[in-house]
Amino acid sequence: MRILLVEDDELLGAGLSDALRRAHYAYEWVRDGRAALAAVSASGFDLVILDLGLPWVDGLEVLRQMRARSDATPVLILSARDATRDRVQGLNSGADDYLVKPFDLEELLARVHAIERRRSGGATNQLRHGPLELDLAAMKVSYRGAPIELQRREFMLLKKLIENPNLILSRSQLEEAIYGWEGDVESNTIDVHVHHLRRKLYPEVVKTVRGVGYRIGPR
Ligand code: CA
Repeated sequence: MRILLVEDDELLGAGLSDALRRAHYAYEWVRDGRAALAAVSASGFDLVILDLGLPWVDGLEVLRQMRARSDATPVLILSARDATRDRVQGLNSGADDYLVKPFDLEELLARVHAIERRRSGGATNQLRHGPLELDLAAMKVSYRGAPIELQRREFMLLKKLIENPNLILSRSQLEEAIYGWEGDVESNTIDVHVHHLRRKLYPEVVKTVRGVGYRIGPR
């Protein structure tokens, strides 16, 4: 899911970027309303996280212009304005959801997940594979109903494999999926995560396909 983040506050924008990156969303960050309008008309985003108080063109105007040109991309409004009037105005202008600053980053991510779920038509946050159940919002895993402690990277790796049950994924595909743009990754990192998953879950949870990569084990 590609996200456009529109926020002029550097500190908050940096915090949000960091949260989106850690949650493995691809995003672009722009800092004013004009740049936002240019970005939404130039390329397809799956979600716009939109501050209201912005330089040049304010957030409500950005939203109005998007809807006026029949751009139905989901919009999550962020605003310091907690007046009911602004909230109603935002929703009436076609926003999908609304968060009042200051908000918790976890809350924001939960809303983003919810929008992602609605978009993909799924009603649930759960991903299942045989005896495994992943809670995608809470990043928790259970095996035959018992919670198992996984590190975040291990969770992301498991999720990626389960989401692609019919694919063999190479180390570099897996690195990209779980490290994104974070730069250099040690060459045996994926193997180490796989080792941990097998130890914490069960040995055949991840299959090695020699010379190619890994795939999820049978259900
Ligand atoms: Ca602002």
